[in-house]
Amino acid sequence: MNQPAKTGPNRYRPLSQVANWNLETDVAIVGFGGAGACAAIEAADAGAEVVIFEAASASGGSTALSSAEIYMGGNGGTRVQQACGFNDQTEDMVTYMMMAAGPQADEAKIRNYCEQSTAHFNWLVSMGVPFRDSYHAERAIMCLTDDCLLYTGNEKAWPFASQAKPCPRGHNLQVEGDNGGPLLMKILTENVECRDNITVEYEVRALTLIADETGTVHGLVVRRDGKELNVRARGGVILCAGGFAMNEDMLRKYAPMLCAGNTPIGNPGDTGSGIEMGISVGAAAINMHEGFISLPYYPPASMTFGILVNDKGQRFINEDVYHGRLGAFALRQQSERLYFILTVEQYGDYEQVSYLGAEVAGTGETIAELESELGLRTGSLAHTLSIYNSDCERGEDREHHKAAEWLQALEPPLVALDVTPGRGAFVPFFTLGGLDTLPAGEVLTPRREIIPGLYAAGRTACGVVRRAEGYSSGMSVGDATFSGRMAGKQAAARIT
Ligand SMILES: Cc1cc2nc3c(=O)[nH]c(=O)nc-3n(C[C@H](O)[C@H](O)[C@H](O)COP(=O)(O)OP(=O)(O)OC[C@H]3O[C@@H](n4cnc5c(N)ncnc54)[C@H](O)[C@@H]3O)c2cc1C
Repeated sequence: MNQPAKTGPNRYRPLSQVANWNLETDVAIVGFGGAGACAAIEAADAGAEVVIFEAASASGGSTALSSAEIYMGGNGGTRVQQACGFNDQTEDMVTYMMMAAGPQADEAKIRNYCEQSTAHFNWLVSMGVPFRDSYHAERAIMCLTDDCLLYTGNEKAWPFASQAKPCPRGHNLQVEGDNGGPLLMKILTENVECRDNITVEYEVRALTLIADETGTVHGLVVRRDGKELNVRARGGVILCAGGFAMNEDMLRKYAPMLCAGNTPIGNPGDTGSGIEMGISVGAAAINMHEGFISLPYYPPASMTFGILVNDKGQRFINEDVYHGRLGAFALRQQSERLYFILTVEQYGDYEQVSYLGAEVAGTGETIAELESELGLRTGSLAHTLSIYNSDCERGEDREHHKAAEWLQALEPPLVALDVTPGRGAFVPFFTLGGLDTLPAGEVLTPRREIIPGLYAAGRTACGVVRRAEGYSSGMSVGDATFSGRMAGKQAAARIT
């Protein structure tokens, strides 16, 4: 006997099978993280009635787990950039973000993001998000003080700096410690709660979309208290359900390279259900093979003076890049082992402050001793070091273009850390693929036709950030909050 098909994200419910609506609203939002919150606020402020469905018992998602560095600039600079003496031109930001996204770049989306970036900063401030007018000069993955502005990507590194004038665009919230994400979500949640035309349904999971035979989306099915409810969304459904870092089947199917990482970072809801719902009604899921993956090798910033070599003792990257770019390059190496080589002074307080957790693989009073401990071919590391050290003396890295400020000859005694993915070092990752959307959030088919009534934002959509090798911290929360706002406005415009 045939069992009725279980309601799940892979199979939409045909409108013809909906006998009655259990709930009706103008805009239905799936997920109450950064994207969902901003979508709700904008849709509500445009006059729409909004319901957010959140599977967890509280708002937050990965946004609340994050550092909430937010990538903003251009247009002469945000208030903070200007106060700190940085004049950031939109074209420099566009060029940088286009290089960052590489061949997968969506220029329309990047331009829209950059052109409206300072306005987005002002909007966040109007919501009550605090940013101090201060600059954090130290090279860091995250700012642990309440300072605001810092370099969070590859802006100062080759090849980016040679084409786009470097400018810091990472904006850290005014809060001590790594507490930006919780504060951002607290403020956005308060803004949601104080709007009478937004209802939040916690512990209610969105199961699937409701669509007609033409492909138009009319609503969704949710599960509340064990019962399935048909929800009509007159303006549309906005999918803000995060990515798929927690879904092993989807990772293996779409992004097997990421499985080289050992720690998916995100929240338990990152199962890709929003992406699957979109696919079920004919949406294109793009860039699904890409993700953020990293070898977080600094702090201490002094690690940047070291060099990264493969099992032939050869360098393959300028080591002053962002940790995600270094991670992406590391994964591509055809090499049994990867080592970070440092002097004892550069190793410094690595054991106290590092997130990397890579073990010492060898030490050497001489280069030959280190080669022998690491099992490298005799003379291979010595050759690399002789070229590198002579370039350090010249103040110009002719091989890999590491900036002069990070060039310091490597003289024994030397230390080598084993940073081979899969051998103990912390290799965090999350996904960057998602539903193809227009800059305003409309979800597209593979032929780039709009699916009426369906929008996506944040990690569920494929946004401005497309690959680890061009990732900058802040591009995800920046994209989630900005694209959420765009989609909220657009869905509301359909009914108001
Ligand atoms: C530790 C960490 C640090 C980070 N630091 C930064 C940083 O500093 N800067 C930066 O730009 N990025 C950072 N990121 C990445 C960034 O936080 C996320 O990519 C971004 O916040 C995602 O926002 P979102 O709104 O798309 O999804 P989320 O904030 O994850 O929200 C999705 C919500 O949808 C809910 N949901 C999922 N499925 C369903 C369903 N079927 N029904 C109902 N609800 C559902 C989830 O429970 C969740 O609440 C970091 C990530 C992590 C994990």
